[in-house]
Amino acid sequence: MMSNVTPSRLKPTVEWQVAGACNYDCSYCIQSKRYRKGRPDSVQMDSALRAFAALPGTWEIKCSGGEAFAHPLFMSQIVPGLMEQTPHHISVLTNLSATRPELMRFAALTRGRLRVFSASLHLEFTALQDFIDKATWLVDQLDLDVDFVVNQVVFPGQEAQAAACRDAIEAVGLRWFPQLYKVNGGVAEFGPELERLIGARPANRAPNFQGLRCWAGVHYFAVDKDGRAWSCRSAKREKQGLLGNIFDGSFERWTQSRACPYTICPCTVPRNRGMIEGAA
Ligand code: SF4
Ligand code: SF4
Repeated sequence: MMSNVTPSRLKPTVEWQVAGACNYDCSYCIQSKRYRKGRPDSVQMDSALRAFAALPGTWEIKCSGGEAFAHPLFMSQIVPGLMEQTPHHISVLTNLSATRPELMRFAALTRGRLRVFSASLHLEFTALQDFIDKATWLVDQLDLDVDFVVNQVVFPGQEAQAAACRDAIEAVGLRWFPQLYKVNGGVAEFGPELERLIGARPANRAPNFQGLRCWAGVHYFAVDKDGRAWSCRSAKREKQGLLGNIFDGSFERWTQSRACPYTICPCTVPRNRGMIEGAA
């Protein structure tokens, strides 16, 4: 298939919400409590694994939730299935509440195939020092080339608290990524303190790429907890770009890029992985 995407940056990627349910209940969670439930069953997971195995080439499957490790099938079926039945790489976004034995087993199962381990710091449910101790311990269990990053939601007016966490995390050599609090799909309004907090670090800005040709839906898609595959997060928000369902076999990717119709792009993957033509 012809493609104008940047080949050196192109990394086909799935963002997979393996579970809706979470073992935390953060007051600021962008997933409403009503929506934050559900754990697909074993038969559905088999269908998902078959759909991923059928993807051409090597993709990165980014597992998130809810909380992925809180799904009882994550360590017994999902991760082993991805490793045994597909050629793909795996990444995970977690609140790091899994036990150390579970994390050790995850590191062993995914050895050589794990790309990004994103650990989110939620101070309503964990103490900063406990989190840092576990994170530094875990980094020692992982391959050297795994990109380990600590995410933290940053709120307007709470930059000082975030700065204290940032300093403690960076002091032990971990990478800190500010997740700017979102409202209505876009980033909340911050004052000048934000730039002092972030400096030159990347953050989850939400730029406008309306009109640019985008390969989301072809080289990237997002799967929700019900198995529905969406061409991107904006498309899902607008209830557009449905690519079918990976649980019932109706999933099909687009074959061509499309002009972005949205005024906000909250999807960092297509942008960072060279799928939006003309985006910086
Ligand atoms: S850990 Fe994440 S998914 Fe779970 S309640 Fe907190 S913000 Fe929501
Ligand atoms: S919102 Fe972003 S990912 Fe979605 S179509 Fe537009 S540019 Fe592509």
